[in-house]
Amino acid sequence: MLKPSIAITHTHALWHASFSARWLVFVVMWLALCLPLSSRAAVLEYIPPDPLGRWMDLLIEQGQPLTINDAISRQREGLFARNREAVPKFGIGAKPVWLYMTADNTGALAAERYLQLEISWLDRIDVYVVHQGEVLKHRIWGDAVRGAPPPLVGLGYVFELSLPPGESEIFVRVETPDPMLLPVRLLDATQLGALQRQYDYGYGLLYGFLLALIAYNAMLYVGLKERSYLDYVLYVGAFALLNLSYTGHGFAWIWPGNTTLQQYAIPLFMVVIGCLGLRFADGFLNLKDHAPNFHLFVRWLSICGLLGITLTIAGQQQSVAVYLAFLFVLLFSAVMVILGVIAIRHGQIFAYYFLAAALSAMFGNTVTALAVWIGLPYSPIAFHAAGWGVVIEGILLALALAYRMRQYQRAQNRAEHLARTDQLTGLLNRRAFLEHAMPIWNSSRRNDRPLSVMMVDIDHFKKINDTHGHAMGDRALQSVSTVLMEICRNSDIIARWGGEEFVILLPETNGDQATQLGERLRAKIAALRLGTLRSPIRLSASFGIADRTRHESLEQLINEADEWLYRAKQSGRNRVAGNSLMPSR
Ligand code: GH3
Ligand code: MG
Ligand code: MG
Repeated sequence: MLKPSIAITHTHALWHASFSARWLVFVVMWLALCLPLSSRAAVLEYIPPDPLGRWMDLLIEQGQPLTINDAISRQREGLFARNREAVPKFGIGAKPVWLYMTADNTGALAAERYLQLEISWLDRIDVYVVHQGEVLKHRIWGDAVRGAPPPLVGLGYVFELSLPPGESEIFVRVETPDPMLLPVRLLDATQLGALQRQYDYGYGLLYGFLLALIAYNAMLYVGLKERSYLDYVLYVGAFALLNLSYTGHGFAWIWPGNTTLQQYAIPLFMVVIGCLGLRFADGFLNLKDHAPNFHLFVRWLSICGLLGITLTIAGQQQSVAVYLAFLFVLLFSAVMVILGVIAIRHGQIFAYYFLAAALSAMFGNTVTALAVWIGLPYSPIAFHAAGWGVVIEGILLALALAYRMRQYQRAQNRAEHLARTDQLTGLLNRRAFLEHAMPIWNSSRRNDRPLSVMMVDIDHFKKINDTHGHAMGDRALQSVSTVLMEICRNSDIIARWGGEEFVILLPETNGDQATQLGERLRAKIAALRLGTLRSPIRLSASFGIADRTRHESLEQLINEADEWLYRAKQSGRNRVAGNSLMPSR
């Protein structure tokens, strides 16, 4: 077992031997290069502003809690083991751990330093500064310690240490049933400030993103009253709360001093997020209709998760609650991905966005869970992966929602279009005709402008059907409607009134002009040749025209045109009749 301050002793020895200054510089540089590897030599100025796990020895407490004097004597006996990770990690429900390092203040004055332990969920932390075998300072913090100050937001627990000249020993004892991971830094005021600034910007960005996503989708929910937007807001909101709780913002801002809530906030929010995420997926992917089994599964999974976390919290089983929460989040992430795949299989195009979103969240959640618990080494990026995973997920889900909304709108437009048009001819149907015609009727009456209505009916159409078949009848209807569309103006409203009868509203057209148009149409239809060259089918149509005079309503005007059509039929068909002239031909 190496004594942690061996390199310092070397430095001293070199100093006392009065080696040349160049030699000294060389050795110091060499030491500086080797420091992180050799893991010893804690000359205060050389301590980097990084997690110091490799600079520390550790001892896992077995049985009875050790006092600081016990710990000091164990350290002297060489019972502390050398640590090899920058961030020591012991998983959930680990035994209390002692960390030990030395710091050599080579200056003449006491050095102000900050010992920072970033993890806000740790239950109890004891920090001791030992100088010349004597305990100079003892601080207790932690979220299970009543009356202890809350962690600094983002930075976690920060202990002010005044290190007297010479060598000080720092003992840290940590006890927690939560995931035990210990990124410990020893910083001066400038380094602490820089770290704080870095975290402030990082969290500002993260919470800004989350808030924007929440606010945007909340507004969409208010406007559209679409359940998925609310589910989304709740899901991302719960995630923001979880993030606030594990970065210490919650304990500092939202539930200050409430150690019970702080104890259980993280596992509770983890399960709640899972349930809200599943609820979102259930509604968004419409599992009830598309995958009823999964709809039930998702329900039961949520109920089991909530029940489990409630029972463990009620029974004060902190470690069990944490285990449950981690497993639930990992399971939830996997289920979201599976649901995305299923939705794609069901041909829901927006499910691609959903799957990409679920994958990004799963990736982030898994990385963070493993970095905090077991499997992956801790790093700030891994620690915050879940946060950024959810930001990307949030953006992709917002896109998915927008995409699905657009699909709905398209389907609605298509349905509306179908409800307004005649499938065979593509003309408006009777209902749509009246909708279009009404405002034109009103304005022509108000402004006393000419307006005519023309009714068109194919002659002996039944015969065409009977002789040449229904399909040929359909073709005849299409040909006639094409003639009507080609010859009428864009401003005329043409519709299929029913069967083989058409109606045309002619704005700014008096009876004479309408009659002329009727004649053109009649001639054009009479010239149509359907069927084959050998046995052509000839068509004709009769026309009834009424122009607006003393009519009280559009209906009256249409009825009159219909009466004129009847007269045209009566007087031999293939002709135009109207109120401004005697039946032609
Ligand atoms: P008239 O000259 O007196 O108008 O005689 P008509 O045979 O043209 O009139 P009638 O109202 O007796 O017959 C209309 C026929 O049109 C009856 C119906 O089966 C047919 N019909 C209605 N709608 C369609 C359709 O969409 N396609 C086809 N092929 N036939 C249709
Ligand atoms: Mg007819
Ligand atoms: Mg008819």
